[in-house]
Amino acid sequence: MSAKVWLVGAGPGDPELLTLKAVRALNEADVVLIDDLVNDAVLVHCPQARIIAVGKRGGCRSTPQAFIHRLMLRYARQGKCVVRLKGGDPCIFGRGGEEAQWLREREIEVELVNGITAGLAGATQCDISLTLRGVARGVTLVTAHTQDDSELNWRALAHSGTTLVIYMGVAKLSEIREQLLAGGMATDTPVAMIENASLPHQRECRSNLTAMQEDAHNFQLKSPAILVIGAVAASDNAERSQPAAAPTEEHYANLA
Ligand code: SAH
Repeated sequence: MSAKVWLVGAGPGDPELLTLKAVRALNEADVVLIDDLVNDAVLVHCPQARIIAVGKRGGCRSTPQAFIHRLMLRYARQGKCVVRLKGGDPCIFGRGGEEAQWLREREIEVELVNGITAGLAGATQCDISLTLRGVARGVTLVTAHTQDDSELNWRALAHSGTTLVIYMGVAKLSEIREQLLAGGMATDTPVAMIENASLPHQRECRSNLTAMQEDAHNFQLKSPAILVIGAVAASDNAERSQPAAAPTEEHYANLA
């Protein structure tokens, strides 16, 4: 096999939520660079590979991005099959795009493999339909954390009519709450806070925009967690989201 770097999403944590393609890449790997928030249980698929932890919680305190780039390049140039394994999806707040571009500029073959992103996984695990028909016309994925401190357009978010899924928000609850309230979002807008989505210790806290900060405090909400803000996060939606009856033969005949 020619040298290649796979940028692979490991999903939110539950190893059964890995894609078959991610498993194939892990099987072929000589070296796996493993990021924060990747559940080690997925490494059963690469017993042959050298595992290098490059995340903040992985042992090396906040590995600089430039160092990760150089490691990938070095192993790829040695002809090794490199898997860069990231939590969730590599391209959702995961720097997949930057890493792919950097490697391609150095003529390294790159293949990106989807993972299930934490926001979508967490919602589904808690029976929240992010685009529940008649309730939300879309979903917006947002990070509360920026490197450049650029301002989000909170007012636009508050009025978007879409469900907001906020990543990296645990340390910013007060700002999120204040900005959305100031932006005109209804005070009783439902909020679900989902910690360790898809893992055995998953926890969920249901609240509303006004009470979210205090409720999170009492719940001792910890990172990693995602926030789902919008009418779909109301606990009584489970009933409304019952699937419609299966289509009948007649229905298909009418379509033909
Ligand atoms: N690429 C990742 C996101 C990385 S940013 C993805 O697609 O999921 C890191 C943030 O993701 C965390 O701060 C948290 O908000 C969220 N996150 C990652 N794993 C999570 C999990 N298992 N449960 C809840 N949130 C999670």
